[in-house]
Amino acid sequence: MQGISLATDNLREAERLMRICNACRYCEGLCAVFPAMEMRRFFAAEDLNYLANLCHQCGACYSDCQYSPPHEFSVNVPAALARVRTDSYDEYAWPRAFGALFERNGLAVTLLAALSVAGFIVGFVWWRDPDVLFGRHAGDFYKLMPHGAMAGLFGAVAIYVVLALTLSVRRFWRDIHGGSAVRSWPPAGHDAATLRYLGGGGGGCTSENERPSAQRRIYHHFTFYGFLLCFAATIVATIYHFLLGWPAPYAVLSAPVVLGSAGGLGLIIGPIGLLRLKLRRDPILTDQRPLGLDSAFLVMLVLTSITGFALLLLRDTPAMGLLLALHLGVVLGLFLSMPYGKFVHGLYRVAALMKYANERRSGAFVD
Ligand code: SF4
Ligand code: SF4
Repeated sequence: MQGISLATDNLREAERLMRICNACRYCEGLCAVFPAMEMRRFFAAEDLNYLANLCHQCGACYSDCQYSPPHEFSVNVPAALARVRTDSYDEYAWPRAFGALFERNGLAVTLLAALSVAGFIVGFVWWRDPDVLFGRHAGDFYKLMPHGAMAGLFGAVAIYVVLALTLSVRRFWRDIHGGSAVRSWPPAGHDAATLRYLGGGGGGCTSENERPSAQRRIYHHFTFYGFLLCFAATIVATIYHFLLGWPAPYAVLSAPVVLGSAGGLGLIIGPIGLLRLKLRRDPILTDQRPLGLDSAFLVMLVLTSITGFALLLLRDTPAMGLLLALHLGVVLGLFLSMPYGKFVHGLYRVAALMKYANERRSGAFVD
């Protein structure tokens, strides 16, 4: 394995730092990256991609490091792994061209897709009957867009999204030699659900200064569980419609509306908090390339929730037609960005945790 040649400056810098850290080992109790690093003597590209996605960028190893700048070793593990991680999203994306497109212009592409879909729905309904677009329909969305058309459109996009996510994660999993996916689930699932490695070894994440705090972890939890609640609302509404024959609109206190509203609140509080922390974060801890994909998913989650609440509040008024078109456009834009933005990054992190669980269980030295 000696004399590994690495293709990019970012990989070469990460490899240089991993060799220094492997000799130092001061940070081994902070997170999973250092114990996983200690199981290796050499670092090929797939090892570095694995370690980069295992890193949750809490910043603790930068604050603790005696070799960080201005020391001549210039050790900055969070920033080096962030750059490798960003490159890995592009490398494993399916199709790869979309990964590069979203990496550079993620927010603009997603907003354009959302507005295009909303514009198409408005134009189509207007063309068929303008009175329907601005009429009162007592919350009956299907007066504007028949249920079959709505289900067909979202079903086709959902199939594409699941396919793109599956192929991207499979590429990553195979490249890092993940191992058994079945046995690694319980520990990896626990670490992912509790966001264990956003703990920075106990104190939390370092954001704008060296004082660690739990804020980043809390906002991630709001986002994660808000997303799950909204997903649950969609599943319940699907069961109502197809199995029980109860079409929308649903009452304010019905299960789909209660679950969706609770999830929507989480998806406003969590992503806004994360965007705020991102803006205030010390730039030395991050990949400083302008990354539209980094913020696109968070912005689209907030817009989905806000347009969803507006639709719920104004569904009995003539504004329902325009709001429904806007909400559907935003949801579709969110779906399309999922294989290339923050969402798929979460899946890579879970895959890295699963490989880490396999390595811990086997205890084997990787050479
Ligand atoms: S980050 Fe610094 S202190 Fe921590 S293991 Fe690496 S070289 Fe040592
Ligand atoms: S930034 Fe945090 S998660 Fe990443 S390597 Fe350093 S201590 Fe570990």
